Parts: sequence; C-alpha cells; structure tokens
Amino acid sequence: MDIKAITICGGGNATHAMIPIIQSNFHGKINLFLPYKEEVKYFKRLIDEREFIIATKGEEKLKGCPDKVSKFAEEVCSDADLILLPLPAFAHEQTVGQIAPFLKEEAIIGAIPSRSGFEYSTLQILKEAHRERVKIFGLQTLPWACRIREYACKVEILGEKNLVGLAAFPHETTFELANFLTHLFNLTITPLPNMLTLSLANIGQIVHPGIMYGLFKGNEMRRYKKEEIPLFYQGVTKEIAQILEEMSKEVLVLTEKAKEESEYIDLSNVLSLKDWLTTSYQDSIRDKSTLETCFVTNRAYQGLCAPMREVENGCFLPNFQSRYLTEDVPYGLVVTKAIAQLAEVKMPIIDEVIVTVSKWMGREYLTDGYLKGRDIKETRIPQNYGINCLEELINL
Ligand code: NAD
Repeated sequence: MDIKAITICGGGNATHAMIPIIQSNFHGKINLFLPYKEEVKYFKRLIDEREFIIATKGEEKLKGCPDKVSKFAEEVCSDADLILLPLPAFAHEQTVGQIAPFLKEEAIIGAIPSRSGFEYSTLQILKEAHRERVKIFGLQTLPWACRIREYACKVEILGEKNLVGLAAFPHETTFELANFLTHLFNLTITPLPNMLTLSLANIGQIVHPGIMYGLFKGNEMRRYKKEEIPLFYQGVTKEIAQILEEMSKEVLVLTEKAKEESEYIDLSNVLSLKDWLTTSYQDSIRDKSTLETCFVTNRAYQGLCAPMREVENGCFLPNFQSRYLTEDVPYGLVVTKAIAQLAEVKMPIIDEVIVTVSKWMGREYLTDGYLKGRDIKETRIPQNYGINCLEELINL
C-alpha cells in the first residue's frame, strides 16, 4: 500500500494518542486538519517551538509531532493518501463535507471508530463531490482508551485493545488496509466482511443507552451527592443485565433475518453482548458466568462512573447530553432500529430504550414505533440516504 502522507482530522484525545504512535511506525508526512474552535493555534505553537506530543503508556513513552496543521482542508488534505477521522460520530458528516472537494482521486478515508451508518452518509457526500473513487473504511472501536493531560503536549494511553475489526468499501481494500493499519498502530487490525457488520456489531449502541436506561429510569431528577454517583459498567445489576440481554437478542434476531435475505452476506462477526465481552476482555473478567458478572468483575471497567453534571455545590444530576447518548443513540441504536424496520423485525425493548432516553436528551426519533420523530433527519439511518429496502442495504 503506497501511503506517503496521512491526514488526521480533529484534535481530541485520540488524535493526541495517534500522532506519536503513527510517527513511531511511519516515515511519511503527518498532517492535521483542525477546523474546530482554537485547536489549530496550539498545534501551530507545538510545531513552531519544535516540541512534541508525549504519549505515556505505562512505563513506555512515545513522542511525535505533526508536519503541518491547518484550519483549511485544502492545505492539509490535497496530498493525503490516507485520512483518519478519530472523531465523535456527530462530527463525521460535517468533516467529510469539508474535506471531500480536496481529496485525491484514490484517497482512503476512515472513521475510528465508525459507529453505525458511516458508509451511508460518507458515500453520499463523496458522490456529490465527484469523488466516487475514494475508498472508505471504519474500525469497530477506538483501539486505545486515552486522555489528554495537557493540550497539544501530553496524553495518557490508559489501555489498548489487542484486536480491532476493520471493514472497508469497496471490500477488496480490506485486507491490505488491515495489514497497513496493523503496522501503523502496532496492534492487530482484523478484516471484517462488510460495513453492515460495523453497524449491527456496534456494541456501544447496546451498552451505553441500555445502562443509562437501567440506571436512571425512574431516577431522572434524583440529585446525587458525589459519593452516591453510581458506577457505570460495574453498576450493572441483574435487572439491568436483563435489559441488555434482551436488546442484544433483538439485534441477533435482526441479524438472522438479514442472513435469510441473502445467502452471501457474512454477519458471523455480530456476536451476542456476552460473547463479545468474553472475547474482547478475556483476561480482565474474573467471573464470566453471567452477563452481570461480566460487567461487575471486569477490571477494565473498574471505577468508571455514570456521566453526571454538577447542578449546585456538591449535587449532581445524570448528564443526558453525554456521548453515551448523543453518539450511541442517533449514530447507533436508531440506525439498528431503522434496519429492523426495513427487515420488518420488531424490537420492543430497543424501542422503549430509544423513546425513553431520547426524551431525556430533548430529542424525538420514534413516534408510535415509527422513525418519524422530529429529529430523525439528524440520525444516520439508511432511509435518510435514499436506502429504502433491505436488499438494497445488503447489496451495498
Ligand atoms: P474528543 O472529545 O477528544 O474530540 C475529538 C475531536 O473532535 C475534538 O478535539 C474536535 O477536534 C472534534 N470535534 C468535537 N466536536 C466537534 C464538532 N461538533 N464539530 C466538529 N469537530 C468536532 O474525542 P475522543 O476522546 O478523541 O474520541 C474520538 C472518538 O473515539 C469518539 O467517537 C469517542 O466516543 C471514541 N472513543 C474514545 C475513547 C477515549 O478513550 N478517548 C474510548 C473509546 C471510544
């Protein structure tokens, strides 16, 4: 794969981690596209002062610095062979729209992570910009848990996944791309058979809205003192685990229906929630006997609290504008519900979760079980991009 220049879009936690990691394994150019707020200013200073981003991973330290940064896509995207989008899903469409006119004809562009429905919106934007030859891909998750410790200066890599799935369009690119990214990130990127797998196997869409629903239904307005804030993943009770299990089952029923529609579609990587947890966190779960214990005894989830906002001194309310909802509902669960609607599969539990949490978010996606809510246009459902039957979706 002949990649000489990489452009990373956005300047968040994941970008900070990627710069030193990529520079350790790649000798070409690394540019940043930073149209958001004042981010570009800090990275310009980094370059001008010949400083580095320092990434700490346990005892290990990596350093790296971009070659060029800009607020303007034309300056940093027109020579890029590979463009990475380590962005929240709600920033994908806007960012792809900004860079599309300047992309090389055969560039490759990928969302890390993709969340659901990335291909529907991105292919449409590329078509409108006459960039049909641009290849796209998505990763199933961000490979690292990482936090900026000092902006444009220090980042901590708290954890790293051993294995992350990648799906690409057109599919022929998948293997070569997975090999290249394995080398670039120095961890295993495994090929997935299609991008529909990324949408259906988007585990965050079950876990995040499902746990929020379980923790806060009936407690929406309860004020918590700091010490009362519930653990998020390790706060999963038997009842919450049951909700999550039902949601996961509904996705699997849909997956089976999609398989019936076409004998050629390979959806074998869409796992049940429990199978996904035990596969992804093999070594960190102490008790794998039930879904509840897979959450509660998972070391990787230790100490992570539910998202809250402080309302007055020392009092907290649940934060319903958290990414656990603003990313995982419109760019996750609602997309799956939309695919289920095309497949004529009912999802009563997922419907109930969507209706409840979207009210908390001040949004309306579902009305009377149909995707006709006031805010449906802001979601990445295939119907918003003119895909109105299951066959068409699978053939894509
Ligand atoms: P982040 O909050 O640090 O933000 C990333 C960048 O996105 C911002 O710096 C900005 O450049 C851009 N951005 C944000 N909002 C925007 C908007 N409205 N319009 C245009 N640009 C905008 O995010 P992150 O922590 O780097 O996460 C990136 C992705 O990885 C997200 O999907 C996140 O859910 C996922 N993720 C992150 C972690 C982690 O540990 N950081 C772990 C798992 C998954």
